[in-house]
Amino acid sequence: MISARIKGLSPYKTEKRSAKVKLSSNELSLDLPAEVKEEIARAVARIPFNRYPDPQATELKEAVALRFGVDPSCVVLGNGSDELIQYLCMAVGESGDAVFYPVPTFPMYGISAQTVGKERLEVPLGEDLDIDLDSSLKEIRRRKPILAFFSYPNNPTGNCFDKNKITAIRNEGVFCVIDEAYYHFSGKTFLEEALSREDTVVLRTLSKIGMAGLRVGVLIARQDVADYINRMRLPFNITYPSQVIAVLMLTKFYHFVEEAVNTVKRERDRLMDALRSMKGVEVFPSEANFFLFRTPLPAPLLQEKLLEEGVLVRDVSYLPRLERCLRVSIGKPEENDAFLEALHKVIEKML
Ligand code: PMP
Repeated sequence: MISARIKGLSPYKTEKRSAKVKLSSNELSLDLPAEVKEEIARAVARIPFNRYPDPQATELKEAVALRFGVDPSCVVLGNGSDELIQYLCMAVGESGDAVFYPVPTFPMYGISAQTVGKERLEVPLGEDLDIDLDSSLKEIRRRKPILAFFSYPNNPTGNCFDKNKITAIRNEGVFCVIDEAYYHFSGKTFLEEALSREDTVVLRTLSKIGMAGLRVGVLIARQDVADYINRMRLPFNITYPSQVIAVLMLTKFYHFVEEAVNTVKRERDRLMDALRSMKGVEVFPSEANFFLFRTPLPAPLLQEKLLEEGVLVRDVSYLPRLERCLRVSIGKPEENDAFLEALHKVIEKML
């Protein structure tokens, strides 16, 4: 029999519609020259498909460790950070323990917690979209969660929470996961704490730096903690093609990734400035490759109208604190121009 806790899950929502300009999933717009794609294709063609991949993904782990400036023994690779989130929910504490996270945030924390039989402890963010420390501590002292997740910067709000608030929560004896999926756009990290403490780990991913299709997530922890998580990891969780392609992308072709990340950071400032100067538009600060904005129009309608213009953004207005808000991912300069033009047009017509 399927358990009631699984029947009670709300599935992770993905955007099924496509558009000429897709700015809805926080992916990186990374154009690789045709000859680079051909070299990748040749490397994939050399894979012996009848063989299992390296269960430790040794070469990839070394490439990841080098890029993140850590020792490979402190790294666990996952099939996306999604898999690592689930491992952490299984590894920390016992069934029935509570898992804390401020909301709105990345939905997989709640889905994984519930999947493995843990209780969800959700506390709404404050008006400023930072952690509401008073309410959080009150709930934490009452429910005594064993584990906490912090998206840093937070998806979908785009801001990094106050580090002191996270530390205050950790001081209550909670194991803290700092999910730095958007690290490359914020530069802010808990890496030092993760490498030195037993109660802190950092999650990173290759998904936001142009490799979402490869499904490679990265957990960085003190060696003993990484070793425990590696014991429970499914043996061949990183596919052969993913290992081969990700190694190439992190070594020989990494300059394409760096260039795309720099473009996004530049474009983020340009786009946010442009929206700030638009009548009736409120822009929220962001340290990620996306940002939130609010208009006087109903968000689902604005999303629909933008889609008619060929631009797809994410409607997040159904989430607490985010009334009339949409989330837009930063694309290539010409995609961002198309978004700006469409937004101007729609707002002018409707306001
Ligand atoms: N954490 C956060 C905060 C995210 O926004 C996302 C992707 N939307 C993920 C984790 C999942 O990343 P991955 O593709 O590595 O599973």
